[in-house]
Amino acid sequence: MSKPYGAEVKVTEGATKSEIVLQDNRHLIHPQHHPSDHRDPEVWVSGKGLELTNLEGKQYLDGLSGMWNVYVGHGRQELIDAASRQLKSLDFATAYAGSTHRPAIELAQTLKRLVYPNIEAFYFTLGGSDATDSSIRTARFYWGSKGRPEKFKIISRKLSYHGSTIGAAAATGVEEFSRVFGPRANGFLHIDSPYPYRFVTARSDVSPGIAAADLLEEAILREGADTVAAFIAEPVQGGGGGVIVPPDDYFPRIREICDRYDLLLISDEVITGFGRTGKWFALEHWGVKPDILQFAKGITSGYFPLGGIGVSGAIKEVMDSVSSDLRWMHGYTCSAHPVGCAVAIANIGILEDEGLVERSAGLGARLVDKLHGLNSHPHVGEVRGLGLLAGIELVADKGAGERYPSGSGVGRRVRDALFARGLLTRVLDETICLAPPLVVSEEDVDRIAGIVIDAIIEVTGA
Ligand code: PLP
Repeated sequence: MSKPYGAEVKVTEGATKSEIVLQDNRHLIHPQHHPSDHRDPEVWVSGKGLELTNLEGKQYLDGLSGMWNVYVGHGRQELIDAASRQLKSLDFATAYAGSTHRPAIELAQTLKRLVYPNIEAFYFTLGGSDATDSSIRTARFYWGSKGRPEKFKIISRKLSYHGSTIGAAAATGVEEFSRVFGPRANGFLHIDSPYPYRFVTARSDVSPGIAAADLLEEAILREGADTVAAFIAEPVQGGGGGVIVPPDDYFPRIREICDRYDLLLISDEVITGFGRTGKWFALEHWGVKPDILQFAKGITSGYFPLGGIGVSGAIKEVMDSVSSDLRWMHGYTCSAHPVGCAVAIANIGILEDEGLVERSAGLGARLVDKLHGLNSHPHVGEVRGLGLLAGIELVADKGAGERYPSGSGVGRRVRDALFARGLLTRVLDETICLAPPLVVSEEDVDRIAGIVIDAIIEVTGA
């Protein structure tokens, strides 16, 4: 019998962990690469439901849905079948203008039913960073096509994360993502976040939510409204902020300001989309509609890389009416990959059939409720959440809200304590982030909360 293709690359089969890690260290570059974080990496070999299993056979509860994306849990046969069916019928075909295929059209139709009603048409990318770039370029294209090319600046927020391409990193409001890569792309500004626990304003005439939103107006007036194309924001700040839930009056005011000064509002729902916060898309919580919606992660539950943007009817009209030489000249080889689209359709089918969006609302409330006992803990500054997205911010001094000094290692020790108890998640600085799969059971919600409480008590000694 001939050797199956791929057999020759199975150098890791039967190898010990140290042999595997040696090969990894030599030849693999990881996101946010640094050897200090990679001396004894976990080698993951399988996943089922809420659990991931490592090379030694130890199982862990996936408290962050992989990277905030595996909404329907690991090992779902429906998604494996959808990918395999699609690979058998049409593995790849371009979706560039002049070409199309059924999975892409069906996915766009499905999304049209689920997203904000003003969003009319969709463009598919491979993930969230290129979705951010697509949004930014689309906003600039829109104003340029309307005879206003000087409207190109993008305003975003400190503590936001929008991705790691040049454009997305420039929009990102965390300095570390740009520090070692030379100058940021031109035309990006960052205002303070509506961070209820830490936002300070000298204004007493309005609520903190309005004061935070009005920072956008101040920035627009400083720069000149004629120079600003769009405001981009995550409805709940995840990877940069450690789950920051804005006050209820923040986004309605933001929408008003965008309308007043002719800015497009881009909602980055890479983390918050597809039910993570208990609504299909998170600005629904506040009755606000964006002009551009961007998504990734949960659309395929991570089984295939896919992201995208949805644009309003007004933007689609401009795209359709410009002359062909001034077209929206943007695209990726794997845009609207047929396999990604087929997996997304099946994944959305599961979210709908199993009522996972409603489930996220209910179980998220249960999770935050279980964690609320921590509010009286001397080192828990705040417990916050929306749907199955929660953050627990630890502080050195509760009264003053004082952070631990940098280098205290508290965040890392908490992460290790969680891991030792079998819970995988991310701790951003000293904020424990939780975003379990939407299929999490009540028992597992309680288990996760219990592990978090125990780990905090162990590390803080209080
Ligand atoms: N936008 C947000 C809000 C994100 O959380 C992320 C990733 O975590 C991105 C964009 C970038 O997505 P990706 O890592 O798929 O490029």
